[in-house]
Amino acid sequence: KLSKRLQTIAEFVTPGSRVADIGSDHALLPVYLIQSSRVQSAIAGELNPGPFEAARKQTADAGLTSKLQVRRGDGLSVLQPGEVDTVTIAGMGGSLMSGILEEGYLAGKLDGVKELVLQPNVGEEFVRSWLLKRGWLLAEETILEEDDKIYEVLHAFKYEEAEVLKRNAEVYDASFLTLPTHQEKGAAILEKMGPHLLREPKEVFFKKWQFELDKLGKIVAQMSQSDLEQAELKKKQFREEMSVIEEVLQCLQ
Ligand code: SAM
Repeated sequence: KLSKRLQTIAEFVTPGSRVADIGSDHALLPVYLIQSSRVQSAIAGELNPGPFEAARKQTADAGLTSKLQVRRGDGLSVLQPGEVDTVTIAGMGGSLMSGILEEGYLAGKLDGVKELVLQPNVGEEFVRSWLLKRGWLLAEETILEEDDKIYEVLHAFKYEEAEVLKRNAEVYDASFLTLPTHQEKGAAILEKMGPHLLREPKEVFFKKWQFELDKLGKIVAQMSQSDLEQAELKKKQFREEMSVIEEVLQCLQ
């Protein structure tokens, strides 16, 4: 049975689209997409030999070698322009993910791609910021918990530039956040915490940010034992970050 995390990603994929799953590891997601008839065929991309072999084996075991092509290579380099409609990338850091997307974009590998389903493990703000920069509409987001881990899934579309600009301006309009002391940070807060997640905050959203607050608090406490000047500066930054998160959570409650 597919994990709740991968299931959620699968449900965002537009039925009938041509999909590439990049960093596919065991190719569980594309195998599921084909087996559930959501898509007819797919490409699984893998950089590393171990996961690449695992993806090949999984594909063969599922009897899907004619429908699922497993390709070895870095990021989107495994794709030909115009070959797929949807790209999924899941289970890696947001910084690596936005790097893969940017390289792919520069190489023209995203030409013709209309949909992205992205699940960064950390550093979601890098992904949102890349989407904004390269003219993708962040249409929806979700947050879920599984096995004591919390995941965010981002769903983005490519439309005509003017429409994306207009709709993203609405998505990233921070005026619904009434922050007494951090109002000017609205845009950065939306990129970090998720504009859609913030508008309809679920229990797990509060749980995630309470956990982040606790983590930052512990780091600051540990740093208090060091009297290096650099630590002072970092501590100040972390405290500031905590105060912004606290204020956002308060304003949502
Ligand atoms: N996508 C699967 C999931 O969400 O369950 C697997 C996630 S796994 C933690 C991350 C995978 O990305 C690894 O198999 C790794 O080899 C692969 N990977 C890392 N960097 C990559 C890159 N630049 N191009 C392609 N695959 C990459």
